[in-house]
Amino acid sequence: MFKKAAKVLFTIFITFIFMSNVFAVSNNTTLKDLKDKLAKDKATVNAIAAKQKQVQSSIKKIEKELGSTADEIDKCENGIKESKERVAFYESEIENKQIEIDNLLNFLQLSDGENVYLEYIFKSKSFTDFIYRSAVIEQLTKYNDELIEQMHVLIEENKKEQANLEKQIEASEALLSKLNVTLKKYNLSMDDLVDDHKDAKADYEASKKEVAAYEKLYKEKNCPDTIAILDCVDVPYADGFIRPTAKGAITSEYGMRYHPTLHYYRLHNGVDIGVPTNTPVYASAAGIVSKITKVANPNKKNSSCGGNVVYVKHRVKGKEYTTIYMHLHSISVKLNDFVTTASVIGKSGGGESYDYCTTGPHLHFGIMQGSNYVNPRNYISFPSKGKAFTSRW
Ligand SMILES: [Zn+2]
Repeated sequence: MFKKAAKVLFTIFITFIFMSNVFAVSNNTTLKDLKDKLAKDKATVNAIAAKQKQVQSSIKKIEKELGSTADEIDKCENGIKESKERVAFYESEIENKQIEIDNLLNFLQLSDGENVYLEYIFKSKSFTDFIYRSAVIEQLTKYNDELIEQMHVLIEENKKEQANLEKQIEASEALLSKLNVTLKKYNLSMDDLVDDHKDAKADYEASKKEVAAYEKLYKEKNCPDTIAILDCVDVPYADGFIRPTAKGAITSEYGMRYHPTLHYYRLHNGVDIGVPTNTPVYASAAGIVSKITKVANPNKKNSSCGGNVVYVKHRVKGKEYTTIYMHLHSISVKLNDFVTTASVIGKSGGGESYDYCTTGPHLHFGIMQGSNYVNPRNYISFPSKGKAFTSRW
């Protein structure tokens, strides 16, 4: 009886140990996890690049269409100008014809008014002359009238043509503004894609080095990729975390927020500590430097979101944690460096001239447990938002 109970208890005990191990293992990252993530990151970088290409070609197409529409408007405007010139020509020709008629009649010494033809006819010397004169008059007037009539028709046609061209210009201008709206949208999404690509690429490059550094450590210890980092690498033991700066104030909390420079809601995955540029930044707990994102020039606003970033891996009560330090003005550690809470990992940055995801000098400090971001306030005591602190704990 006693033996049976002991056996059941032992089984429960073993199951518990096994379960807690499974839990611990699944929560702590393995090298294989990092390699899998790296492959995904690479696919993301490529997908963004492909999308960028696609948007770029759409932009080119619209720009071409904008050019040809503007040309079309120019053509119509020239057409109107030429048509107006033709109308002016016909109008002056009509005037000329009128003068010609008047001159001709004057030459024949006939007065103006309605009686011109009659006077001309009655002045005929003979019936033959009368017939001849009337025929000449009739022909001349008919000919000139026809010419004038023709020109009036031409003027009408030109005015219609001008109206049509005006309509075409209106339609082209409507198309132009529509194309411009589309172009603006494409350009905006292009800007986002450029930033996304920059961020994804910077993170991918840093992750690639991170994986290479762990690979080296795993090889030294002869560990399979499927073993957790904590079970293979000598990640220093720590009891908990302390503040990463000796002074400062929380200027932004962990949680969903409207991003000040990206302009949409997303998780602010750490706390922002307001500190002047070049404030020493310490490791929040003993650990090993696991990942570094280094930007070419931290004084250029166009560097990737977060700029210079240092990631430190920790072992706290058997669990794997990573602390993240963003917007650093300078970095003073290397991959695989062991650090303590007394180690300066870099100097703070975050001023306006820095990466595009920051608007003022501060340290963005985040904590991950396994691969999930957690609220740093759950691990470190910080005064309420806006209140200054003057020590590490
Ligand atoms: Zn932040």
